[in-house]
Amino acid sequence: MNSMHAGIGMTSARTRGRMIDRLRTQGIQDETVLAAMNSVPRHAFIDEALSSRAYDDVSLPIGHAQTISQPYIVARMTEILRNGKQLGRVLEVGTGCGYQAAVLSHVAKEVYTVERIQPLFAKAKKQLFDLKLRNVLVRHADGTSGLTDGAPFDGIIMACAAPALSATLKEQLAVGGRMVLPIGTQEQFLYLIEREATGFRETRLEPVKFVPLLMGKA
Ligand code: SAH
Repeated sequence: MNSMHAGIGMTSARTRGRMIDRLRTQGIQDETVLAAMNSVPRHAFIDEALSSRAYDDVSLPIGHAQTISQPYIVARMTEILRNGKQLGRVLEVGTGCGYQAAVLSHVAKEVYTVERIQPLFAKAKKQLFDLKLRNVLVRHADGTSGLTDGAPFDGIIMACAAPALSATLKEQLAVGGRMVLPIGTQEQFLYLIEREATGFRETRLEPVKFVPLLMGKA
């Protein structure tokens, strides 16, 4: 590694440390989630022109009218999904640049992630491969109804907002599994769906702002 790259590495490790401190003050308590976010180089998922802002608590454009979610929301959704326990198989709908999938790869045994936009899918797949995150499976698919051939999942995360909760998606949760997703159009809320032996429990959490779930591959 030449000195310039070493310099960038050190700078990003320091800024990442500050991001973790900030997540703590924002209320994230799960040390496993904080450790996962400390080990994923967020700047690697972002266009170089924007990389100086990689660790700010903002969402940033990733092309094709899509965004990488702000660190707080990634941490919050992962913390809710984990509920203090190691996760088995997890599904993410909306890979985008692959950042959330990379974080999930540190807290789950297996991560399935689907993206409908081909160039985003290809770029995320390469980035996750380059980071040697071999327990992530990236698919170019419409994830509106989840991923039948990977189900059941212990956890499902949606990175895009649907107007309503999909019954098909809900059915892909294992008993004891949890799903965290934004629901709504103009006004959106984060929801937690828990599958229990006898049915589903739905909890409305805080207001959020996500890009919309869109149908079909692009
Ligand atoms: N988790 C991402 C956030 C990406 S934004 C990250 O860490 O960067 C949400 C993504 O959902 C967008 O890339 C969008 O193309 C994708 N998306 C929207 N509708 C979808 C669908 N039906 N199936 C799969 N992906 C979808």
